[in-house]
Amino acid sequence: MKILVINCGSSSLKYQLYNMDNGDVMAKGLVERIGIDGSNLQHTPAGKDKIVFEQPLPDHSAAIKLVMDKLTDADCGVISDLSEINGVGHRVVHGSKYFSKSCIVTEEVKDAIRKCFDLGPLHNPANLMGIEACEKLMPGTPQITVFDTAFHQTMPEKAYMYAIPYEYYEKYDIRRYGFHGTSHKYITSRAIEMLGGKKDSKIITCHLGNGSSIAAVKDGKVIDTTMGLTPLEGLVMGTRCGDIDPAIVLYLMNKENLSTQDVDTIMNKKSGVLGVSGVSSDFRDVESAMNEGNKRAKLALDMFHYKVAKYIGEYFVALGGANAIVFTAGLGENSKTSRLAICEYLKCLGVEIDAEKNGIRGEEIDIASADSKIRVLVIPTNEELMIAQDTKELLDK
Ligand code: AMP
Repeated sequence: MKILVINCGSSSLKYQLYNMDNGDVMAKGLVERIGIDGSNLQHTPAGKDKIVFEQPLPDHSAAIKLVMDKLTDADCGVISDLSEINGVGHRVVHGSKYFSKSCIVTEEVKDAIRKCFDLGPLHNPANLMGIEACEKLMPGTPQITVFDTAFHQTMPEKAYMYAIPYEYYEKYDIRRYGFHGTSHKYITSRAIEMLGGKKDSKIITCHLGNGSSIAAVKDGKVIDTTMGLTPLEGLVMGTRCGDIDPAIVLYLMNKENLSTQDVDTIMNKKSGVLGVSGVSSDFRDVESAMNEGNKRAKLALDMFHYKVAKYIGEYFVALGGANAIVFTAGLGENSKTSRLAICEYLKCLGVEIDAEKNGIRGEEIDIASADSKIRVLVIPTNEELMIAQDTKELLDK
């Protein structure tokens, strides 16, 4: 069975073609600058070098058509005909209250995705464009949607409600949804396997990248997570502020005469480690600046580590203990200094990490020392594989 995984952003598109019979990635690639000057496709067939194609791509349909052409191309293709693709799995960012699991696309599903445009204005319209473009190019091939919010739909009311007048929940569905669900789901299932397949597990999953979130997962089901109605809530991130006193928004609007759009830009694009350090949103740059004595870079990283550790403590309480803490994504997988700094705070919970194991990169590993009361796992995330697996599962039914 061959599954194509598509992840459409507002002006970009990532894809991977999986052979699910052996789990191999047959080809992958990225289209950038859709609808903007300088559109290009970077296509990498398995075992071969990346090939770059530059040509105008006015919309997502044109981008997907080019991807399909290259997948079936005599020189750089990996299949001879699109009919070899059994299904397409699409990442959809916001599933709101409508979707608690992945599903096959129907007209009703597309209507529900449209209803979520308000909640995911940057992503959901692009995600739907990707689905509709594939429907046109591959009529009859099942399209499957996999939602970033779905894995978190098991949260209890007390975790997902905001303490604002209840009518706003009823009128506008204002509640916490959580994001990075596909990543949290993938690392949860890997962690359960690494813990010996124990069903009754208490796991704290930390997706630490440019966008960051943590989830508390009990027996494979999320009971709490740090992101909320939007991905702005929770941890300090690359450019997002995470939790702040909501009154700051009003205060700033008054003081600086800002519009709602201005504040949105400040909170989403100019805050986080970028805003505090003034150096960069990239943790590597901030770490280098700190090592050169930049005090604000050190402050930004201290704030990030402190906040991650505090949420882990909170979720330790929410879960009534924990078997494992899992680190994943760009920073979680690669930064031994960040893992060490976070775990220093967790010594009071009995967390001990092994310095040598913490230095190993690029593989699934338990970096806890033998005496640690809680396992500390580093698991490279694989959201595309998770989407492909969900797609296969639905097609197998
Ligand atoms: P992601 O959003 O998962 O792609 O993660 C991107 C973030 O991971 C960027 O801020 C990178 O700086 C960070 N990152 C990647 N590798 C490292 C590393 N070796 N040390 C520190 N941060 C890293």
